[in-house]
Amino acid sequence: MTARAIDMSNIKQRLNQVLDQIHRAEKKYQRPHGSVTLLAVSKTWPLENIIEAAAAGQYCFGENYVQESIAKIDTDTKQLEWHFIGHLQSNKSREIASRFDWVHSVDRLKLAKRLSAQRPTDLAVLNICLQVNISNEPSKSGFLASEILAVAEQISLLPNLKLRGLMAIPAPSDNFEQQRAAFRQVATLQQQLMEQGLALDTLSMGMSGDMEAAIAEGATIVRVGTAIFGPRNKPVPIGRNN
Ligand SMILES: *Cc1c(COP(=O)(O)O)cnc(C)c1O
Repeated sequence: MTARAIDMSNIKQRLNQVLDQIHRAEKKYQRPHGSVTLLAVSKTWPLENIIEAAAAGQYCFGENYVQESIAKIDTDTKQLEWHFIGHLQSNKSREIASRFDWVHSVDRLKLAKRLSAQRPTDLAVLNICLQVNISNEPSKSGFLASEILAVAEQISLLPNLKLRGLMAIPAPSDNFEQQRAAFRQVATLQQQLMEQGLALDTLSMGMSGDMEAAIAEGATIVRVGTAIFGPRNKPVPIGRNN
């Protein structure tokens, strides 16, 4: 067997393990089967690995770096669903708006306005999540909860976007209850927005290390890289990259 063939079966096997974990967590926390979507985070991995995952049935892929993701999307012949999850600079917004199906990392009103203005009208509306800085970490990107309560309605009215919900990357913790507590804050904020009259259906939270806690608290999209593709070569600060 060639090295490449071994690698391929690994991706398929890991993907199925992650899906299994998701389905077990859905059951354990009384979530409907199929209520959690797996977003495979393929940053730093070549299109070849994405195609391997797609061949195993994976449809949604998450990317962080603009140039890298453009190269992949523009050569994707399988019409996969692409989600931008990285830190987004305003001067790159047009490239994102014209290619992606989702942006999870909208963290300022100005950026939402640009994405709406730059979304080609022959494409479906761009699905977006507002990134919330739940731990109020000054170094992290994302709106503060109070800012989201103030701007969400305005963003929901932008014509070429559809506001789907919230995205969060809580401070890493090995403690399950601490993980849950952070995700619970995101879910509570989402609830408050829905009480304001916004129709939201997406909570993008949970990664390889805290997926179960996120599902326990209502995640509808988990963003998983390492558990599917293996450890990345160059460690990059989560959510701060381009
Ligand atoms: C890289 C990344 C992930 C995936 O992290 P893993 O620990 O590899 O599962 C999820 N979300 C965001 C925003 C990321 O940048």
